[in-house]
Amino acid sequence: MIVVELSVEIIFLGTGGGRFSMVTQKRRTGGIRIISSKSNIHVDPGPGALVYSIEMGLDPRKINGILVSHAHPDHSNDVAVMIEAMSEGTTIKRGVLLASTSVLYGNDVCEKVLSKYHQSIPSEVYEAKIGFSMVIGDLEVKVCKAVHSDPSTIGFRFRTQYGDFAYIPDSEYFDDVEEYYGGVRLIILSVLRPGGKPWEGHMTSVDAAKIINKIKPEKAIITHFGMHMIMKSPESEARWIENETGVPTIAARDYMKVRFGKSIDFSFMEKQMDLRRFLNY
Ligand SMILES: [Zn+2]
Ligand SMILES: [Zn+2]
Repeated sequence: MIVVELSVEIIFLGTGGGRFSMVTQKRRTGGIRIISSKSNIHVDPGPGALVYSIEMGLDPRKINGILVSHAHPDHSNDVAVMIEAMSEGTTIKRGVLLASTSVLYGNDVCEKVLSKYHQSIPSEVYEAKIGFSMVIGDLEVKVCKAVHSDPSTIGFRFRTQYGDFAYIPDSEYFDDVEEYYGGVRLIILSVLRPGGKPWEGHMTSVDAAKIINKIKPEKAIITHFGMHMIMKSPESEARWIENETGVPTIAARDYMKVRFGKSIDFSFMEKQMDLRRFLNY
């Protein structure tokens, strides 16, 4: 009898971050898809989330959860269309939306992103406040701290049968990072800039190394690269972080797939769909 090990798949439908990566699509900005036997969750649906999902054969109508870390467009632009996909084109009430206060209601700095109409479509809508946790399918999601120019920004920690992994979106380093992310086996960090190019509210490779040194995960992934980072080579920055921390660190690439099970493995997906054929032109 062949025993297939069930694992959680984490697929990068984009590894770009910030304005210039986004508007040039030098790196895609579709966000991250997390798929397990009962969960199909889209995290941070930036521009291209819908189109790149279709291109990769990851039917956006199959998602049962959408998580949005903050209101900036490289994280939230496609949230309405992903809700429409999740609800069979709004014909049924379906799925969970867990989104920052700024996305749902706005705050002092950001207008709200999502209309009342789109907030009425998912079966369940939750405001992502630090400390809140819930189960989507077979994954427990916990809302964790981040420090960014949108003051409602939050990160997400996922509990699986193989242990935890977490995603820190745009954020600067903060001292109590361990309290929220300590003990994860895998950390996904949004490293917009290389070392030596700090920018308030964002992470450089130096900050990433500080975080990794504090939480000591089994492996780390860096993603959400801005133009400075892309020009400098995310791979060389990942090697630098790995040397500083001793933790194996991978620079994500568009369409990278991580298998999170007993081991943490990396591969790349092929495009599944010729979009022009799919769209009949
Ligand atoms: Zn961003
Ligand atoms: Zn941001």
